[in-house]
Amino acid sequence: MTAQVDVEALDRWIREFAGLVAVNKDLLTQLDSAIGDADHGANMDRGMTAVVAALNGTTSASVAALLKQVGMTLVSTVGGASGPLYGTFFLRMATASGEVTTLDGPAFATALRAGLEGVVARGKAEAGDKTMYDALAPAVEALGSALAAAVPLGEALRGATRAAEGGRDATTPMRARKGRASYLGERSVGHQDPGATSSALLIAAAAAALAQS
Ligand code: ADP
Ligand code: MG
Repeated sequence: MTAQVDVEALDRWIREFAGLVAVNKDLLTQLDSAIGDADHGANMDRGMTAVVAALNGTTSASVAALLKQVGMTLVSTVGGASGPLYGTFFLRMATASGEVTTLDGPAFATALRAGLEGVVARGKAEAGDKTMYDALAPAVEALGSALAAAVPLGEALRGATRAAEGGRDATTPMRARKGRASYLGERSVGHQDPGATSSALLIAAAAAALAQS
């Protein structure tokens, strides 16, 4: 049977991400204290706590409605670069998904790619700039090629998680060219990017929440 990602499964994904952000809040802040302003953990935790509260207060009739609520909540509650970037990610995912109640694996992958394209449209990051793009892009690529090779969604998402974590780790030797860390120039080298770290959690959350898909 083809995997189906319904509204309930997406809800599980978002709650799983919120949980991982909460557990890793101090790590994200610590990473941002080295090359930023030490608020990435607090920013993401505030945003995802508000997202879970919003999900608890409503029933989403479609995939697009749920993803739109997530995006709007992040945009309105997270200051800093990451709020609009993560917000745009989910809003673009919503638009790409449409008013349906389930996505199959390839449609979920297409929506993730649209989210990534939204991040690029908003922040102009390219590969190697030491941003969340460097974790998300390899994950989206890995997911797309695994699904094209008929790998089941759960397994494909585990591969995408490894790709995201590899991309996250690869940010350490990079010199930042976008965002606050770019002000440090050469001094940004040798530190793992906070946004790439939270983005790897986003993909890991999908693998955990959609494992049975
Ligand atoms: P701020 O930098 O405003 O304090 P955060 O600390 O919450 O915001 O988020 C910082 C993260 O945002 C960085 O680690 C990086 O991954 C990501 N980021 C910053 N600018 C960009 C951009 N232009 N494109 C993609 N990601 C970016
Ligand atoms: Mg910051």
